[in-house]
Amino acid sequence: MRAVQSLEMARLLAFLVLAICLSAAERPPVYVALWFDTEDYVLPAADDAALRIATDLTALDVRGTFKMVAEKARVLERRNRRDVIRALALHDIGYHSENHSMPPAPAVYLNGLGYYEGAAEFERREGPGTVEVRRIFGVVPSCYGQPGSSWGPQTNLALRRMGIPVYLDEGTQVSLNDQPFWYGGLLYAFHMGPFQIRASLEPGASAAKDIAEFDAAAAELERRGGGLISIYYHPTEFVTTEFWDGVNFSRGASREPSEWKMPHRRTPEDSERCYGLLRAYVAHARKRPGVRFVTARDLAQIYASPDPPRVDAVKVRKHLSGGITFLGTPAGALSPAEMLQVLLGLEPRVVEGPEARRESTMRAARIPLVAFERARKDAAGFIRTQKALPSRVWIGSVRLSLADFTATLAGDDGVSREVEVRKGSLLFEKHFATDARRAFSWPIHPDGFNPVGLLELGRLQGWTLKPARLR
Ligand SMILES: [Zn+2]
Repeated sequence: MRAVQSLEMARLLAFLVLAICLSAAERPPVYVALWFDTEDYVLPAADDAALRIATDLTALDVRGTFKMVAEKARVLERRNRRDVIRALALHDIGYHSENHSMPPAPAVYLNGLGYYEGAAEFERREGPGTVEVRRIFGVVPSCYGQPGSSWGPQTNLALRRMGIPVYLDEGTQVSLNDQPFWYGGLLYAFHMGPFQIRASLEPGASAAKDIAEFDAAAAELERRGGGLISIYYHPTEFVTTEFWDGVNFSRGASREPSEWKMPHRRTPEDSERCYGLLRAYVAHARKRPGVRFVTARDLAQIYASPDPPRVDAVKVRKHLSGGITFLGTPAGALSPAEMLQVLLGLEPRVVEGPEARRESTMRAARIPLVAFERARKDAAGFIRTQKALPSRVWIGSVRLSLADFTATLAGDDGVSREVEVRKGSLLFEKHFATDARRAFSWPIHPDGFNPVGLLELGRLQGWTLKPARLR
């Protein structure tokens, strides 16, 4: 009797353990990227703030991502803050530009430069800083994010050349479903909408409200089958009530170090309140089943490779006939650039988008098959050689814009003796901001800064845009 009872108890226990394991396994993963733009090289107290945050997180067994400004890293060295460098090095290290706010800011010097010219200029100005960060912290930065809203599409190519695979920041220039996406060959966690949240440090802010907001975002991601929440701070915010660069470099102003002003300080008690808020918020998030804190370096692992799945050309043609934008499949997505390569018989690989927008000059409604075959070969040759999409494709001495060529190619049944010319509609452009003045608004940019050309270059690179998929 006793033996039977204990056997039943054991069975019940085994069942309960299995049920708990299954419910944990079935819960879609909610990843949380917690990152800190570590940039204030003016106020020494900001060094202590970085140390304190890194130490608090380590005590909670959570790793954050500290995006370092190179000048900040050098200043830590000059001030002999080995303690800060050691504490930060236990976390992930990203890159946040050479000096952040001393003019010209990245968008200011990238504006007016072409795609390749801009990439070279970004690499010239910002590349040496990554070498400094690597020397000081011992790792290649895992990610980059622009100072303020000083974004530029040319950085994508430069960052790939610099060996930085992830773009981690917040901005409004480009977005895709409020979740990470592939763009310009980089994994972007950017413009995350309701999944870009934080516990407010404002006096009188409601911690309970912010925690409820976190829970709602996590629940929504679970409903969607998993995803990413992005949370960011600046260590300097925990010790100041105004930004270090706002008081020195507003509206493109230059100021020499001897003239630097110190930002207004929080009281020590108020700083303690802020550290406490962050600790409580992180501790709450960490307790939620299914939540995992990830660094920028982890993002490159938890998201599946950008290599597109094999998709039948018929499906690609059908999709592109409805307009030019990425194609999502259960096995992964294809960008318009990848679909174009498939239709041209190329093995899809990472390529740059076109460097300019060219209109079609072809007026005829049909193209003889033999002339179109020549154009196809020409386009494929360009992509293979330049590792970029052409901005137009020649049909004899007239040309088709890339969009019209792609639509025409998608409409070609491969049998008719003539190919009907079709107009291409660039649906992916709806994922880009249209108001440059607003998208690049930042107190450090010069008054009236309105880099419409940067948004246009960004849209052109939209040929490479597609959603990222969790592994
Ligand atoms: Zn910043």
